[in-house]
Order: sequence, then structure tokens, then C-alpha cells
Amino acid sequence: MDIPVDRIPRTLRNLRACLLCSLVKSFEQFEVDGCDNCEFVLGMRGNREMIFDCTSSNFDGMIGVTQPDESWAAKWLRIPSFKPGIYAVSVSGRLPPTIYRELKSRNIPYKSRDRAA
Ligand SMILES: [Zn+2]
Repeated sequence: MDIPVDRIPRTLRNLRACLLCSLVKSFEQFEVDGCDNCEFVLGMRGNREMIFDCTSSNFDGMIGVTQPDESWAAKWLRIPSFKPGIYAVSVSGRLPPTIYRELKSRNIPYKSRDRAA
């Protein structure tokens, strides 16, 4: 299984990483499609404010994950059930408290993606 071409960032400029799942895409891709993993809870599609709140431009390392079920990298990143894509190794920043509470109320585990912390 390959990474769908519309999920691969076309440029290294303006890239952001999702604070919940570490998926890396351009701002424009988040705006058009939302996060491929988290859209059901974060609702970033067409919502620039949410994209600024729920993604970070400050991240380190990128790993291409084509088979999240089997990839050791995916296990290390704790994303076994996520979609193929480019993922950041470490993402700086925090989800806003309102989102955090929403996740908690829906029993969605959230661990900081910031490995420097
Ligand atoms: Zn996400």
C-alpha cells in the first residue's frame, strides 16, 4: 500500500503536524481535507482557527508510514491504527484545553507528541 498522493506534502514550506496524531501535511491540505485520522473529532476541514489550534509548525523528524499496522516506526510513534502518511517524530505544542476535554469525554487517548518534553 502506498501513501496516497494527496496526503504527501507537495512542498516543505508551510508544513504542520497534527498535535493529536503527528500527521504532517501543508496548511492548505489540512484546510481542504482536515486531518485524515482526527477529522471526526477535531473538525479542521475549512476551519483555519482549528488548524492553528490543533496543528503545530514546530516539529522534528518525518517518517513515511505506508503500512501502519506493520511498521515498527508506527508502533514507536503509537499510531498503529492510523492512515498511511508522513508523520512527525516529535511535535511541539499542546491541544487547547477545550479540545482536550472533548477527547476525554469521548474516551480518546491523548498523549503529548512532544518528545523533547
Ligand atoms: Zn491528526
